[in-house]
Amino acid sequence: MRVLLVEDDTHLANGLRESLRHEGYSADVVFNGNDGLSAIKSGDFDIVILDLGLPDIDGLSVLKKAKQINKALPVLILTARDGIESKVKGLDLGADDYLAKPFSIEELLARLRVIERRLGNHSTSVIEHKGLSIDTKAHSISINEVEASFSRREYMVIKSLLENIGRIQSKEQLESKLYEWGEEVASNTIEVHISNIRKKLPKAFIKTVRGVGYVVSKT
Ligand code: CA
Repeated sequence: MRVLLVEDDTHLANGLRESLRHEGYSADVVFNGNDGLSAIKSGDFDIVILDLGLPDIDGLSVLKKAKQINKALPVLILTARDGIESKVKGLDLGADDYLAKPFSIEELLARLRVIERRLGNHSTSVIEHKGLSIDTKAHSISINEVEASFSRREYMVIKSLLENIGRIQSKEQLESKLYEWGEEVASNTIEVHISNIRKKLPKAFIKTVRGVGYVVSKT
């Protein structure tokens, strides 16, 4: 599940991002409305958490445009405590839910789970590709329907590659994923993980693109 967070309060945004990642979501933050709209246009996200008070464009305008770009994209809006009016407007504009600030992370996670359930498909938590299946909610991986055992770090490397099927992931990108999860990363960490992962995966599942990185190809 890839979450886009549009929030100009850097302290709150970074804290939320860490919490979301800790829960197994892939989370990215942008700090203004224009960047939010670019990210939404990229089509890389499954859910948007949108603060209505943004520095450049009004959050409600971002919401309206987001729904024009992708009507089906779930948007959870964050409103100021006294923002009853904007809350109503937001829901009228197609927001799926709202949270009034201040809110607890548990509350946010509960709302996200409701939206995920409403989406009603497993594709948001399970990625299947060529006999390999990864459940990002259960943090489990199966190969040809048999559960396989991977370390936490190996799991994260596989998850990153599968969330980017067909797109090369550089060593640095994969390292940064491990860093984000608070893991120590030595210079050869990724090579070692890839080598161990390959021993458990079908042959040539992960391809090396010499000097660039690694990729799980589409076909
Ligand atoms: Ca704000």
